[in-house]
Amino acid sequence: MNLTRAARLIRLRVIVMAVALAGLLDWLRLNGAGESLVWSAIDFENFAQPRPVLPERAAADLEAAVRLLAENGWPFRLHATYDETIRMDLAVLERTGAFPGGVRWILDHAETISPESIDRVAALGGAISVQHRMAYQGRDFAERHGPELRRCPGVPDSRPDGRRRAAVPT
Ligand SMILES: [Zn+2]
Repeated sequence: MNLTRAARLIRLRVIVMAVALAGLLDWLRLNGAGESLVWSAIDFENFAQPRPVLPERAAADLEAAVRLLAENGWPFRLHATYDETIRMDLAVLERTGAFPGGVRWILDHAETISPESIDRVAALGGAISVQHRMAYQGRDFAERHGPELRRCPGVPDSRPDGRRRAAVPT
């Protein structure tokens, strides 16, 4: 489906409203939104291809969606493979001012997240959901992003305060 940016935000707004109305039903439980809140703000994870460069509007698109979800108390997930995307995501979340102590959120994937970004995620009260994609694409990743390989999930990276990353199959 080819929706304009405004149409995508309206669709998300309608979903939020519909769930609020349906909340009267006992059998429906909200789990949250994600992981692709807005198409412009997600990268993809085909490591045989170059890292995608996000369009300039990505941050504004994501901020509109995050503000809507935060206002309605929706937890959410964000698809983000590369640290470049993650830094943009974190700047948006920091700008909204809704965190920490607000809506629960996680980053999905985060293959090349930097130690600095891990610290920012922690400061915002977020979490990281690591998957096992490197088990299938590790060779492609190593050929394209060799020096970054040691930062990938499954490779121990002790933080000074004792936090560690660990691969968690989903
Ligand atoms: Zn994803």
